Amino acid sequence: MPLKDSFNRVIDYVRVSVTDRCNLRCFYCMPEQGIIYEPKAHLLSYEDIVRLLQVLGELGFKKVRFTGGEPFLRKDFMTLVEHTAKLGHYRDIRITTNGTLIQRHIPKLKELGIDQLNLSLDTLNAERFKRITRRDTFAEVINTLHLLIKEGFKVKINAVVMYDVNTEDIIPLVNFAKEYPVNIRFIEEMPFNGGYKKNDRIFKATEIYETIQKEHPVMVRKSRKHGDTATEYAIEGFRGDISIIPAFSRTFCNTCNRLRITSKGEIKTCLYDSGVFSMRDFIRSGVSDKALADKFKELIRLKPENGFVAEAGTREKLVRAESMSSIGG
Ligand code: SAM
Repeated sequence: MPLKDSFNRVIDYVRVSVTDRCNLRCFYCMPEQGIIYEPKAHLLSYEDIVRLLQVLGELGFKKVRFTGGEPFLRKDFMTLVEHTAKLGHYRDIRITTNGTLIQRHIPKLKELGIDQLNLSLDTLNAERFKRITRRDTFAEVINTLHLLIKEGFKVKINAVVMYDVNTEDIIPLVNFAKEYPVNIRFIEEMPFNGGYKKNDRIFKATEIYETIQKEHPVMVRKSRKHGDTATEYAIEGFRGDISIIPAFSRTFCNTCNRLRITSKGEIKTCLYDSGVFSMRDFIRSGVSDKALADKFKELIRLKPENGFVAEAGTREKLVRAESMSSIGG
Protein backbone atom coordinates (compact mmCIF):
# COMPACT_ATOMS: atom_id res chain seq x y z
CA MET A 1 0.00 0.00 0.00
CA PRO A 2 1.51 3.36 -0.97
CA LEU A 3 1.81 5.95 1.77
CA LYS A 4 -0.75 8.73 1.66
CA ASP A 5 -0.94 12.01 3.52
CA SER A 6 -4.13 13.37 5.06
CA PHE A 7 -5.11 14.95 1.72
CA ASN A 8 -5.03 11.57 0.00
CA ARG A 9 -1.84 12.35 -1.91
CA VAL A 10 0.49 9.41 -2.52
CA ILE A 11 3.92 10.34 -1.17
CA ASP A 12 6.63 8.29 -2.87
CA TYR A 13 9.37 10.73 -3.91
CA VAL A 14 12.21 11.89 -1.67
CA ARG A 15 14.72 14.62 -2.46
CA VAL A 16 17.98 14.46 -0.56
CA SER A 17 20.39 17.38 -0.34
CA VAL A 18 23.78 15.74 0.19
CA THR A 19 25.76 18.92 0.87
CA ASP A 20 25.16 22.63 1.40
CA ARG A 21 28.40 23.48 -0.42
CA CYS A 22 28.51 24.64 -4.00
CA ASN A 23 31.26 25.70 -6.39
CA LEU A 24 28.97 28.28 -8.04
CA ARG A 25 27.39 31.29 -6.34
CA CYS A 26 24.10 31.75 -8.21
CA PHE A 27 22.82 35.03 -6.89
CA TYR A 28 19.19 33.83 -6.61
CA CYS A 29 20.37 30.99 -4.35
CA MET A 30 23.01 32.41 -2.03
CA PRO A 31 25.03 35.51 -1.20
CA GLU A 32 28.49 35.83 -2.70
CA GLN A 33 30.24 35.89 0.64
CA GLY A 34 29.58 35.22 4.28
CA ILE A 35 27.96 31.85 3.77
CA ILE A 36 28.23 29.76 6.89
CA TYR A 37 28.56 26.13 5.88
CA GLU A 38 27.55 23.35 8.21
CA PRO A 39 30.52 21.52 9.71
CA LYS A 40 30.84 18.07 8.16
CA ALA A 41 29.80 16.41 11.43
CA HIS A 42 26.42 18.15 11.15
CA LEU A 43 25.68 16.62 7.75
CA LEU A 44 23.97 13.29 7.39
CA SER A 45 26.56 10.59 6.75
CA TYR A 46 26.19 8.40 3.67
CA GLU A 47 25.39 5.48 5.97
CA ASP A 48 22.56 7.47 7.51
CA ILE A 49 21.22 8.51 4.11
CA VAL A 50 21.25 4.94 2.78
CA ARG A 51 19.53 3.72 5.93
CA LEU A 52 16.81 6.35 5.60
CA LEU A 53 16.39 5.49 1.92
CA GLN A 54 16.07 1.82 2.81
CA VAL A 55 13.33 2.62 5.33
CA LEU A 56 11.54 4.89 2.85
CA GLY A 57 11.91 2.26 0.11
CA GLU A 58 10.15 -0.22 2.36
CA LEU A 59 7.41 2.36 2.87
CA GLY A 60 6.84 2.43 -0.89
CA PHE A 61 9.05 5.29 -2.04
CA LYS A 62 9.99 4.79 -5.69
CA LYS A 63 11.92 7.89 -6.65
CA VAL A 64 14.90 9.64 -5.12
CA ARG A 65 16.70 12.79 -6.25
CA PHE A 66 20.14 13.74 -5.01
CA THR A 67 20.80 17.44 -5.01
CA GLY A 68 22.57 20.02 -2.92
CA GLY A 69 24.63 22.32 -2.97
CA GLU A 70 26.46 20.62 -5.73
CA PRO A 71 26.17 16.86 -5.12
CA PHE A 72 29.34 16.02 -7.07
CA LEU A 73 31.29 18.28 -4.73
CA ARG A 74 30.81 15.90 -1.81
CA LYS A 75 33.58 13.33 -1.58
CA ASP A 76 32.70 9.89 -2.97
CA PHE A 77 29.22 10.98 -3.97
CA MET A 78 29.04 8.17 -6.52
CA THR A 79 29.45 5.65 -3.69
CA LEU A 80 26.19 6.93 -2.24
CA VAL A 81 24.51 6.63 -5.62
CA GLU A 82 25.82 3.09 -6.03
CA HIS A 83 24.60 2.00 -2.58
CA THR A 84 21.22 3.53 -3.30
CA ALA A 85 20.96 1.63 -6.59
CA LYS A 86 21.80 -1.59 -4.73
CA LEU A 87 18.85 -1.13 -2.39
CA GLY A 88 16.63 -2.09 -5.32
CA HIS A 89 13.71 0.04 -4.12
CA TYR A 90 14.13 2.99 -6.43
CA ARG A 91 12.80 2.86 -9.96
CA ASP A 92 14.08 6.40 -10.52
CA ILE A 93 17.37 7.66 -9.16
CA ARG A 94 17.83 11.25 -10.27
CA ILE A 95 20.45 13.92 -9.75
CA THR A 96 20.32 17.70 -10.08
CA THR A 97 23.71 19.21 -10.91
CA ASN A 98 25.34 22.36 -12.21
CA GLY A 99 27.31 20.22 -14.65
CA THR A 100 30.79 21.38 -13.71
CA LEU A 101 32.09 18.22 -12.05
CA ILE A 102 30.11 15.39 -13.58
CA GLN A 103 31.99 14.44 -16.73
CA ARG A 104 34.33 11.82 -15.29
CA HIS A 105 31.39 10.07 -13.64
CA ILE A 106 29.44 9.51 -16.85
CA PRO A 107 30.54 5.87 -17.37
CA LYS A 108 29.57 4.94 -13.80
CA LEU A 109 26.21 6.70 -14.08
CA LYS A 110 25.47 4.70 -17.22
CA GLU A 111 26.58 1.48 -15.58
CA LEU A 112 24.13 2.16 -12.73
CA GLY A 113 21.33 2.77 -15.22
CA ILE A 114 20.99 6.45 -14.37
CA ASP A 115 19.97 7.89 -17.70
CA GLN A 116 18.22 11.10 -16.72
CA LEU A 117 19.81 14.22 -15.26
CA ASN A 118 18.69 17.73 -14.40
CA LEU A 119 21.23 20.35 -15.33
CA SER A 120 20.90 23.94 -14.13
CA LEU A 121 21.47 26.53 -16.83
CA ASP A 122 19.70 29.87 -16.73
CA THR A 123 21.09 31.40 -19.92
CA LEU A 124 22.90 30.53 -23.13
CA ASN A 125 24.83 33.77 -22.93
CA ALA A 126 28.33 33.42 -21.43
CA GLU A 127 28.43 36.93 -19.95
CA ARG A 128 25.06 36.58 -18.26
CA PHE A 129 25.98 33.13 -16.99
CA LYS A 130 28.96 34.70 -15.25
CA ARG A 131 26.83 37.46 -13.79
CA ILE A 132 24.21 35.03 -12.49
CA THR A 133 26.53 32.33 -11.16
CA ARG A 134 29.39 34.68 -10.19
CA ARG A 135 31.72 32.09 -11.67
CA ASP A 136 33.27 31.62 -15.09
CA THR A 137 32.32 28.03 -15.94
CA PHE A 138 29.94 28.56 -18.86
CA ALA A 139 32.15 26.70 -21.36
CA GLU A 140 32.42 23.66 -19.08
CA VAL A 141 28.67 23.52 -18.49
CA ILE A 142 27.81 23.81 -22.19
CA ASN A 143 30.41 21.19 -22.96
CA THR A 144 28.87 18.87 -20.36
CA LEU A 145 25.41 19.49 -21.74
CA HIS A 146 26.43 18.45 -25.25
CA LEU A 147 28.33 15.46 -23.93
CA LEU A 148 25.34 14.24 -21.91
CA ILE A 149 23.08 14.58 -24.95
CA LYS A 150 25.61 12.73 -27.10
CA GLU A 151 25.89 9.96 -24.51
CA GLY A 152 22.13 9.47 -24.66
CA PHE A 153 21.09 10.93 -21.30
CA LYS A 154 17.63 12.44 -21.05
CA VAL A 155 18.52 15.96 -19.97
CA LYS A 156 16.21 18.39 -18.27
CA ILE A 157 17.54 21.93 -18.15
CA ASN A 158 16.48 23.96 -15.09
CA ALA A 159 16.35 27.67 -15.83
CA VAL A 160 15.25 30.08 -13.12
CA VAL A 161 13.58 33.07 -14.75
CA MET A 162 14.24 36.43 -13.14
CA TYR A 163 12.68 39.74 -13.96
CA ASP A 164 15.24 42.20 -15.36
CA VAL A 165 17.95 39.52 -15.39
CA ASN A 166 17.40 36.78 -17.93
CA THR A 167 13.93 37.10 -19.45
CA GLU A 168 15.64 37.68 -22.80
CA ASP A 169 17.09 34.18 -22.47
CA ILE A 170 13.69 32.52 -22.54
CA ILE A 171 13.38 32.30 -26.33
CA PRO A 172 17.00 31.22 -27.02
CA LEU A 173 16.55 28.47 -24.42
CA VAL A 174 13.20 27.46 -25.94
CA ASN A 175 14.83 27.27 -29.35
CA PHE A 176 17.58 25.03 -27.98
CA ALA A 177 14.83 22.40 -27.62
CA LYS A 178 14.08 22.73 -31.30
CA GLU A 179 17.49 21.44 -32.16
CA TYR A 180 18.14 19.07 -29.24
CA PRO A 181 15.95 16.45 -27.51
CA VAL A 182 15.98 18.14 -24.10
CA ASN A 183 13.28 19.36 -21.75
CA ILE A 184 13.71 23.04 -20.88
CA ARG A 185 12.12 23.80 -17.53
CA PHE A 186 11.47 27.43 -16.73
CA ILE A 187 11.18 27.93 -12.98
CA GLU A 188 9.71 30.89 -11.11
CA GLU A 189 12.20 32.41 -8.72
CA MET A 190 11.61 31.51 -5.08
CA PRO A 191 12.66 33.46 -1.98
CA PHE A 192 15.29 30.94 -0.79
CA ASN A 193 18.46 32.91 -1.39
CA GLY A 194 20.08 32.96 2.03
CA GLY A 195 18.03 36.00 3.04
CA TYR A 196 20.30 38.61 1.51
CA LYS A 197 17.96 39.97 -1.16
CA LYS A 198 14.27 40.62 -1.58
CA ASN A 199 12.29 39.24 -4.47
CA ASP A 200 10.10 42.22 -5.14
CA ARG A 201 9.11 41.34 -8.67
CA ILE A 202 8.62 37.70 -9.62
CA PHE A 203 8.42 36.87 -13.32
CA LYS A 204 5.38 34.64 -13.02
CA ALA A 205 4.67 31.35 -14.79
CA THR A 206 1.87 33.06 -16.72
CA GLU A 207 4.35 35.66 -18.00
CA ILE A 208 6.80 32.93 -19.00
CA TYR A 209 3.99 31.22 -20.90
CA GLU A 210 2.96 34.46 -22.66
CA THR A 211 6.57 35.20 -23.64
CA ILE A 212 6.95 31.79 -25.26
CA GLN A 213 3.52 31.85 -26.83
CA LYS A 214 4.19 35.13 -28.62
CA GLU A 215 7.02 33.40 -30.46
CA HIS A 216 5.42 29.96 -30.72
CA PRO A 217 1.63 30.43 -30.82
CA VAL A 218 0.79 26.72 -30.83
CA MET A 219 1.98 25.12 -27.61
CA VAL A 220 0.32 21.76 -27.00
CA ARG A 221 -0.15 20.97 -23.35
CA LYS A 222 0.97 17.44 -22.47
CA SER A 223 -0.81 15.30 -19.91
CA ARG A 224 0.49 15.49 -16.36
CA LYS A 225 2.17 12.55 -14.68
CA HIS A 226 1.94 11.62 -11.00
CA GLY A 227 3.63 14.28 -8.88
CA ASP A 228 4.50 16.64 -11.74
CA THR A 229 5.19 20.21 -10.66
CA ALA A 230 5.80 21.23 -14.23
CA THR A 231 3.26 21.95 -16.92
CA GLU A 232 4.78 20.50 -20.06
CA TYR A 233 4.26 21.68 -23.62
CA ALA A 234 5.18 20.30 -27.02
CA ILE A 235 5.89 22.61 -29.93
CA GLU A 236 5.55 21.27 -33.45
CA GLY A 237 8.86 20.59 -35.16
CA PHE A 238 10.76 20.54 -31.87
CA ARG A 239 12.92 17.58 -30.83
CA GLY A 240 12.59 18.51 -27.18
CA ASP A 241 9.88 20.12 -25.10
CA ILE A 242 9.20 22.97 -22.72
CA SER A 243 8.03 23.03 -19.13
CA ILE A 244 6.95 25.81 -16.83
CA ILE A 245 7.16 25.40 -13.05
CA PRO A 246 5.10 27.80 -10.92
CA ALA A 247 7.40 27.28 -7.93
CA PHE A 248 6.45 30.58 -6.34
CA SER A 249 2.77 30.63 -7.38
CA ARG A 250 2.42 27.08 -6.03
CA THR A 251 -0.47 25.92 -8.18
CA PHE A 252 0.63 22.27 -8.15
CA CYS A 253 0.46 21.44 -4.44
CA ASN A 254 -2.67 19.29 -4.76
CA THR A 255 -0.63 16.61 -6.56
CA CYS A 256 2.55 16.92 -4.48
CA ASN A 257 4.25 13.56 -3.85
CA ARG A 258 7.42 14.79 -2.13
CA LEU A 259 9.37 14.69 1.03
CA ARG A 260 12.69 16.50 1.47
CA ILE A 261 15.73 15.72 3.55
CA THR A 262 18.09 18.67 3.90
CA SER A 263 21.86 18.34 4.08
CA LYS A 264 21.79 18.41 7.88
CA GLY A 265 18.99 15.89 8.08
CA GLU A 266 15.97 18.14 8.61
CA ILE A 267 12.77 16.73 7.18
CA LYS A 268 10.72 19.13 5.12
CA THR A 269 7.26 17.93 4.21
CA CYS A 270 6.88 21.08 2.09
CA LEU A 271 9.51 23.25 0.44
CA TYR A 272 7.96 26.24 2.21
CA ASP A 273 8.10 24.87 5.75
CA SER A 274 11.23 25.54 7.76
CA GLY A 275 12.01 21.94 8.61
CA VAL A 276 9.64 19.93 10.74
CA PHE A 277 11.92 17.36 12.38
CA SER A 278 15.61 16.55 12.79
CA MET A 279 15.94 13.03 11.42
CA ARG A 280 19.68 13.35 11.96
CA ASP A 281 19.34 13.71 15.73
CA PHE A 282 16.72 10.97 15.79
CA ILE A 283 18.82 8.47 13.85
CA ARG A 284 21.88 9.32 15.93
CA SER A 285 19.95 8.58 19.12
CA GLY A 286 20.12 4.91 18.15
CA VAL A 287 16.50 4.29 17.15
CA SER A 288 15.31 1.18 15.30
CA ASP A 289 14.24 1.04 11.64
CA LYS A 290 10.67 0.57 12.87
CA ALA A 291 10.88 3.81 14.86
CA LEU A 292 12.26 5.60 11.77
CA ALA A 293 9.42 4.23 9.64
CA ASP A 294 6.81 5.26 12.23
CA LYS A 295 8.29 8.76 12.40
CA PHE A 296 8.19 9.12 8.61
CA LYS A 297 4.55 7.99 8.60
CA GLU A 298 3.67 10.50 11.31
CA LEU A 299 5.41 13.37 9.50
CA ILE A 300 3.78 12.50 6.19
CA ARG A 301 0.36 12.48 7.84
CA LEU A 302 1.08 16.05 8.98
CA LYS A 303 2.15 17.29 5.53
CA PRO A 304 0.45 20.67 4.97
CA GLU A 305 -2.16 21.11 2.29
CA ASN A 306 -0.06 23.52 0.26
CA GLY A 307 2.95 25.82 0.26
CA PHE A 308 0.95 28.81 1.50
CA VAL A 309 -0.30 26.94 4.56
CA ALA A 310 3.25 25.71 5.20
CA GLU A 311 4.71 29.18 4.91
CA ALA A 312 2.05 30.68 7.17
CA GLY A 313 2.75 28.05 9.79
CA THR A 314 6.42 28.82 10.05
CA ARG A 315 8.51 31.74 11.12
CA GLU A 316 8.62 33.84 7.97
CA LYS A 317 12.12 35.19 8.58
CA LEU A 318 13.51 31.71 8.87
CA VAL A 319 12.01 30.58 5.56
CA ARG A 320 13.33 33.63 3.75
CA ALA A 321 16.79 33.25 5.25
CA GLU A 322 17.24 29.71 3.97
CA SER A 323 19.37 29.05 0.93
CA MET A 324 18.24 26.57 -1.67
CA SER A 325 21.70 25.04 -1.45
CA SER A 326 20.95 23.50 1.93
CA ILE A 327 17.34 22.66 1.06
CA GLY A 328 18.21 21.11 -2.27
CA GLY A 329 15.76 22.83 -4.62
N1 SAM B 1 24.01 22.48 -7.57
C1 SAM B 1 22.95 21.81 -8.24
C2 SAM B 1 22.44 22.62 -9.39
O1 SAM B 1 22.97 23.71 -9.63
O2 SAM B 1 21.56 22.15 -10.08
C3 SAM B 1 21.81 21.36 -7.35
C4 SAM B 1 21.33 22.29 -6.27
S1 SAM B 1 20.41 23.69 -6.83
C5 SAM B 1 20.00 24.45 -5.28
C6 SAM B 1 18.90 22.92 -7.34
C7 SAM B 1 18.01 23.77 -8.19
O3 SAM B 1 17.45 24.80 -7.40
C8 SAM B 1 18.70 24.44 -9.36
O4 SAM B 1 18.06 24.11 -10.55
C9 SAM B 1 18.55 25.90 -9.06
O5 SAM B 1 18.41 26.66 -10.21
C10 SAM B 1 17.29 25.92 -8.21
N2 SAM B 1 17.21 27.11 -7.36
C11 SAM B 1 18.12 27.58 -6.48
N3 SAM B 1 17.68 28.70 -5.88
C12 SAM B 1 16.46 28.97 -6.40
C13 SAM B 1 15.52 30.01 -6.19
N4 SAM B 1 15.73 30.99 -5.34
N5 SAM B 1 14.38 29.95 -6.92
C14 SAM B 1 14.14 28.95 -7.80
N6 SAM B 1 15.00 27.94 -8.03
C15 SAM B 1 16.15 27.96 -7.35
